Amino acid sequence: MSDLLVDGVDTVLLDVPLVRPHRFARTGMDAQPVLLVQIRTAGGAVGLGEGVVPGGPWWGGESVETMKVVIDQYVAPLVLGRRVDDIAGISQAVNDVVNANLYAKAAVEVALHDAWARSLNVPVHTLLGGVSRTSVPVTWALGTEPAAVVIEEAMAKLDAGHRSFKLKMGAQEPPDDVRRVCAIAEKLAGVAGVAGVAGVRVDLNARWDRLTSLRYLPALAAAGVELVEQPVPAAEVEWLAEINRALPIPVMADESLRTPSDAFRLASLRAADVFSLKTTKSGGLRATAAIASIAAAAGIPCHGGTSIESPVGTAASLHLACAAPAVTWGSELFGPLLMREELLTTPLRYSGGDLHLPGGPGLGIELDPAAVAAFTRR
Ligand code: MG
Repeated sequence: MSDLLVDGVDTVLLDVPLVRPHRFARTGMDAQPVLLVQIRTAGGAVGLGEGVVPGGPWWGGESVETMKVVIDQYVAPLVLGRRVDDIAGISQAVNDVVNANLYAKAAVEVALHDAWARSLNVPVHTLLGGVSRTSVPVTWALGTEPAAVVIEEAMAKLDAGHRSFKLKMGAQEPPDDVRRVCAIAEKLAGVAGVAGVAGVRVDLNARWDRLTSLRYLPALAAAGVELVEQPVPAAEVEWLAEINRALPIPVMADESLRTPSDAFRLASLRAADVFSLKTTKSGGLRATAAIASIAAAAGIPCHGGTSIESPVGTAASLHLACAAPAVTWGSELFGPLLMREELLTTPLRYSGGDLHLPGGPGLGIELDPAAVAAFTRR
């Protein structure tokens, strides 16, 4: 049994270059910073986890640098010497000492699951209760560039099998942004008329207020946009509920949904018709599975969201998305496709617009040590 004791917690900062700059409403990035967490057991198992946010602290306040400090100084000492299968106990001990910092906690919690699963020689999804599916559809995220640029990128991705696109909004004044997105939605629907239907979703990343949302979102619905993600700030759940009632298409909660109690409140208010699940923003696999259960009980479908994880975090999110029956609205687990270089010895498998669950113990992935060394921040 002592084989299960944790005898090492290592963190290393990586910067993984992207195939193209990725733009959000008010910021962007050329490379994705990643905090790689490795938890070693006395029995020799090494579990992987990843601390990652979409391009910096704008989304939730944490960055890879804050995560490294929090884990090295406060979390690692609480994990060392404990059994990897005592995840509830470890989480309690960590929560007694560290408030919030859910991205940092997720990195450690995923690494514990991976080390535990590898110790048992089972996949991580077995620890989550087994699989409901073995692959998930992947929505491709398009940037905030002008319509012509975005349409050209979407065309190439249609050829690769993607049938769903997510557009970031909020970088321009609302009337201009709405005109841009309507032009894209109409063009993609026209092209897909030949080879099937491409869904178009938009993500406001909490940049609009209540009135702007009520004024401009109906035009997007009329142009064929199928879903609106988080138009208003995270705390404004009543606004979200009002907007959800006013629109003929679903509103998806992302920034407003971090914890199981957030999920309960959103479900009670019917503030969102779809939940975006992220193992990262919610502190790990267990809390995310709890959110998925609340959603299922409330009849709310879930979507496998991303913080633009490397293949490590993507594999963790994929195990959860395949294990949770409620994840029926696909995923946006495209992080590895946005990265210019591979981190694994065998890449995750994307085909036909889907991401496929890898086999093997733990997360089912192996790091390429040369790639890790090449991207390590100096
Ligand atoms: Mg989002």
